[in-house]
Formats: sequence, structure tokens, C-alpha cells
Amino acid sequence: MVLADLEARKRATPDAVSALEDAMSSRTWWAEQWPEGEMYVAGLVAQDVQDALLETVGRWPLCLGCPGPEHALYIQPDLGGPDPVWVCEETGQTVAPLGSLAG
Ligand SMILES: [Zn+2]
Repeated sequence: MVLADLEARKRATPDAVSALEDAMSSRTWWAEQWPEGEMYVAGLVAQDVQDALLETVGRWPLCLGCPGPEHALYIQPDLGGPDPVWVCEETGQTVAPLGSLAG
């Protein structure tokens, strides 16, 4: 799902994919320790990749729906799940479910 959203915004660079793989391996370990946490994993991985990209190439994913200064989307619920969606940080409006930015 995270990869689909990276591709949707042309950000599936080798660095981003490598950040995604790192996030997945650490969150997989985490979910193994706490199986009930599985529903949070996808959203947490998205947040990890978002943090990694912020340090290198900048904000991802950007909100395309609003006028005005460039701003990002963030994952709601903040815990990463269940049913993570991208929300505009300015308006608080839901933009798309995680994995569906292209749609
Ligand atoms: Zn917005």
C-alpha cells in the first residue's frame, strides 16, 4: 500500500524503497512481539517512510486538493490504524485510504 502511494506521487526512488524496506522489517518485528498490533502496521510503516523522506527529499505525500502553500497529508488515525487514511494537514479532510492515492 505504501509503495503504491509512493508510485502514485513518483516518489518510489531507490532511497524511498530502501526506507520502506527498513520500516517494514522493524515494524514486522514489532508486530511479532504484539500480534494485536497488526492492524496498525501499514499506517506506521507509512509514517516511518514519511519521516525518512522528510529528512532527504522533502514532504510526501503532498496535498493536491487545496490551493495555497505546499502542505502534506498525514496518516489518520495517528496510531497507524485501523483503516488508515491520508488526511490533509490544513483542512483535516480525508483524501484517500492508504494505498489509494493514485485512485
Ligand atoms: Zn490540503
